[in-house]
Amino acid sequence: MIIAIDGPSASGKSTTAKLVAKKLNFLHIDTGAMYRAVTLYFLDHKVSLKNPTQIQHSLDNIDLKLSTDGKLFLNGRDVSETIRENPVTNFVSQVSSISAVRDRMVDLQRKLSRNHNVVMEGRDIGTRVFPDADYKIFIVADVDIRSKRRYLEMREKGVKISYESILKDLIERDRIDSTREHSPLKKADDAIVIDTTRLTIEEQVEKIIDIVQGNH
Ligand code: C5P
Repeated sequence: MIIAIDGPSASGKSTTAKLVAKKLNFLHIDTGAMYRAVTLYFLDHKVSLKNPTQIQHSLDNIDLKLSTDGKLFLNGRDVSETIRENPVTNFVSQVSSISAVRDRMVDLQRKLSRNHNVVMEGRDIGTRVFPDADYKIFIVADVDIRSKRRYLEMREKGVKISYESILKDLIERDRIDSTREHSPLKKADDAIVIDTTRLTIEEQVEKIIDIVQGNH
């Protein structure tokens, strides 16, 4: 079974998807983390986004592995923390708009899901990766609430960043993600929308579990 969860940045997708997967004993796949890992590799190797040969070569050299406890390994190195830092966050939407990058990630996402029940979250899961997913959820929330949540999360981690710069980053990423040519962020026609502006994480999780268990 595939549960696809899509939505804009900081809408609560990751936390919700992780908890839904835990409750149902499904595999959780965070596709944003995969695009972030590719971005980290591109930054580390100074890959030019204008050089298709270099991009292709880099993609051939990238090995991504997910551990069962949700860690992401890039060529054997645990990058789970580094991919959340500013340099990656500021560059990821540009890297993920490249079709060669998307094609490679979509292949890998389908491969990782083989023989598993999966909760997969991202931007194009219900539209491109699994257009026949059993359940499609599209999570939305006001941008102010999303920025506030991300701000508190960063502060808890001890990261010094202003609310204004988070708000600016979210608006810019949403703009690039929803206007790009290849698989833009878009609700699938048959997706169920959940607005989390006034919901707690527990309520979001409960809503999705209800949908999957047919109590909707
Ligand atoms: O979900 P997260 O905010 O970590 O995603 C980081 C970025 O990865 C997004 O802003 C988007 O550019 C890209 N992404 C994507 N397609 C997905 C998941 C993420 O383009 N399925």
